[in-house]
Amino acid sequence: MTTTIWWVRRDLRLTDNQALHAAHQQGETVIPLFILDPAILQSAWAGERRVAFLLAGLRQLDADLQARGSRLIVRKGDPHEVLATLREEVAYAAIHAERDHSPYAVRRDAEIADNLPLTLHEGVAIRPVGSVCKADGDPYVVYTPYSRQWQSQPIPQRADILPAPPALTTPAALPSQPLPATPGLPADISFAPGEAEAKRRLRAFVQGDAPPIYDYAQERDRPDLNGTAQLSPYLRFGMVSARLAALGAYTAIARIEDQAKRQSAAVWLSELIWRDFYITILAHFPHVRDGAFHRRYDQIAWENDPTHFQAWCDGRTGYPFVDAAMRQLRTLGWMHNRARMIVASFLAKDLLIDWRWGERWFMQQLLDGDPAANNGGWQWAAGTGTDAAPYFRIFNPITQGKKFDPEGDYVCRWLPELTQVPRNRRHEPWKMSAAEQKRAHCVLGQDYPEPIIDHSWARERALAAYKAVPSS
Ligand code: FAD
Repeated sequence: MTTTIWWVRRDLRLTDNQALHAAHQQGETVIPLFILDPAILQSAWAGERRVAFLLAGLRQLDADLQARGSRLIVRKGDPHEVLATLREEVAYAAIHAERDHSPYAVRRDAEIADNLPLTLHEGVAIRPVGSVCKADGDPYVVYTPYSRQWQSQPIPQRADILPAPPALTTPAALPSQPLPATPGLPADISFAPGEAEAKRRLRAFVQGDAPPIYDYAQERDRPDLNGTAQLSPYLRFGMVSARLAALGAYTAIARIEDQAKRQSAAVWLSELIWRDFYITILAHFPHVRDGAFHRRYDQIAWENDPTHFQAWCDGRTGYPFVDAAMRQLRTLGWMHNRARMIVASFLAKDLLIDWRWGERWFMQQLLDGDPAANNGGWQWAAGTGTDAAPYFRIFNPITQGKKFDPEGDYVCRWLPELTQVPRNRRHEPWKMSAAEQKRAHCVLGQDYPEPIIDHSWARERALAAYKAVPSS
């Protein structure tokens, strides 16, 4: 009887899982294995809340497996050692896992594949890394041509989606360690872990329920509205396959006649393509994990003021749009994309703090914290990356707030001290007179901070610092 291992890493799903499918095809018995790797779980980048989300997702996966007659086997330790030890317990024929492009995973998997029968499968991205490239085989480093080439390739079909196996046999006597207890996720967690919830969200979104894919183009930049899919933590841990999400987008596009609505669904698809793009960038240019894509920007003379950094982390910069976003992050472990762009720009440009400090803080806080997307987003905002906004494009947190949170509802949701501030002052409370501040129960410097920096002045300082970088 052939036994195989389905090594679960960031693919916590039964549907459309190429690694699981291969393990099931090859093995009469399959060991769904998760390894608690201290090198990952105890890293400074891990983030307690994301680990709790992962562990809760694993419990859910175990329940889904049990419903199919199987169960999750959990072991703790260095993956290479764990897999070698397991081979002494069960003579497994193969290990099947989903390919992961983060530098640590690439190193780990290469070492393991030297000694053990490890086969890697696609699935983390919609299109495998390397399949979308220039005519000469070089990777794209600019999104638009990448996206064009991506979209010229065959559209995923319903028949491509691998069904969840109806039943799985797992060796009954095989010991498993308990998943560690965690302080857990707050009871009112906005992101219930697991594949069923991931699929429910995707289905609701692409079918045009609330929030609807057909309004995405108009609403996606409005953090005061629920206009995005809020799927990122699920895609991060593979609780739903990126290919299924793409199929949903294509189906939504095909289903509707209205041009604007079709376009809206196409914009959502383009976000999934950004995700593939950043996975590709990390795979081809692993140096981005430690520094700027354009290495010359490693020479920026950052100010790195720790007091300013703390004020940014705490949501106490005195700029309401920035502060609301940073408090949303701390409370939910998630932040709206427009807000991510603004706070990232504010840290790197206004405060002139090394974007890597912000990247790390995001990784510690975000449920969806992902080495590729997070690094890509930070380098874009800091103007150091592949497809970066030119460095002279510096977001103004006041005008951005007025444009994308016109009533100041987002700001008030996360900054209760501003609730009584008149709407036209919610993005610049310092414009209130002393009497108005009193009336609004928002005295600056007491109830809410004065701005820690003047944006116009900081903008000039940033331009000078970026300009001073030698051109090669
Ligand atoms: P939707 O707008 O509904 O988009 C659907 C999916 O597309 C998302 O779930 C996500 O998987 C993907 N996606 C959307 N925008 C992007 C993007 N710009 N880059 C890559 N993928 C994208 N996303 C992460 O998943 N993890 C991160 O750690 C992360 N860090 C970021 C840091 C910064 C500074 C910035 C500017 C962006 C970051 N993003 C990150 C991208 C984006 O903000 C989130 O993916 C998005 O806000 C998730 O919300 P949603 O699921 O409602 O997205």
